[in-house]
Amino acid sequence: MWHKRFSHIYLEDGVERYPLTRTILGRLSKAKVVTVRNYKDIFARSGQNFQIQKRSPKLILARKKNNLIYEGSMVSQDFGYRNFYYNSLLLNCVYNCDYCYLQGMYPSGNMVVFVNEEDFYQATLKAIEFRPFQEEPLYLCISYDTDLLAYETVVPYATRFIEFTRSQEDLVIELRTKSANWRPLEDVIPNERCILAWTLSPPMVAKAYEQLTPSPEQRIQAIKHCIDRGWPVRLCFDPVLRIKDWEKVYVKFFKEVFKLLPAEKIRDVSLGVFRMNADYYKRIKKQRTDSDILFYPFESSQSLISYPVDERLHMIETLKAALVKFLPAEKIATWT
Ligand code: SF4
Repeated sequence: MWHKRFSHIYLEDGVERYPLTRTILGRLSKAKVVTVRNYKDIFARSGQNFQIQKRSPKLILARKKNNLIYEGSMVSQDFGYRNFYYNSLLLNCVYNCDYCYLQGMYPSGNMVVFVNEEDFYQATLKAIEFRPFQEEPLYLCISYDTDLLAYETVVPYATRFIEFTRSQEDLVIELRTKSANWRPLEDVIPNERCILAWTLSPPMVAKAYEQLTPSPEQRIQAIKHCIDRGWPVRLCFDPVLRIKDWEKVYVKFFKEVFKLLPAEKIRDVSLGVFRMNADYYKRIKKQRTDSDILFYPFESSQSLISYPVDERLHMIETLKAALVKFLPAEKIATWT
């Protein structure tokens, strides 16, 4: 599968020396390797078509020179952690959800892997040391502008970051995914400070709007496996889409999920409606006319677009009321 997906690998000047480069090249030995001066020569050039490139993405291996860690953004939930950060180990995602902001954020559908992993660890250590709230841990989302676990077979970043976290008592990480590939985690000892967070959508939503992702049933099987092994698991019903009969569809889905998963073993739940940076949204709308969910009469506020405030409050209240039948309210974090 991966050989088909990545027929070409672009190597930025100087990345040959990193062990992760050698691992990836070894795993994709059939790909044609092309050397480039700077990864942006490929990734950031003008006139690219994100959706066309997604059909046959190329892999670019590069070194991240700055911004190795960012402060958490207002579109994301911090789950009560005041030292909230994220990093970008990879740019772009193997999947292609209609509602994904990456389509508007990146000029290219190609995939970048930053192979200078040691620099990311050093940046994390520094952030731990200088975190503003010293009495609380650093909370770091490591699968932010990508789906790290989905790439683990080729780029073993998720398991390596979990191992790094093990030795850092003041670090909590979140690995968010739609992957059903639990196998790379099989030999990794679960850690309370490594939260595995699965995004789940009702089957009809996943089928219509989450291209290339494993089905919700497959994701639930992976979750079940990881819960049984003792991993802390977060469920993310996020983004909730305002589809026809959204209330019926989502409430039914919650019932199905908690029939299959032991609610008492779920660490917490995130619930949020569709929202996106307004500039990314404008760019996406220009590029694609094929997805009805992008053409809702959204409201814009504080450089974000989302459903009008009364609609989104109603959606969250309704769905939270449905979720508290399974989990205590304090385990449900909401974005409104
Ligand atoms: S899984 Fe997440 S990052 Fe990947 S395409 Fe879908 S929304 Fe974007």
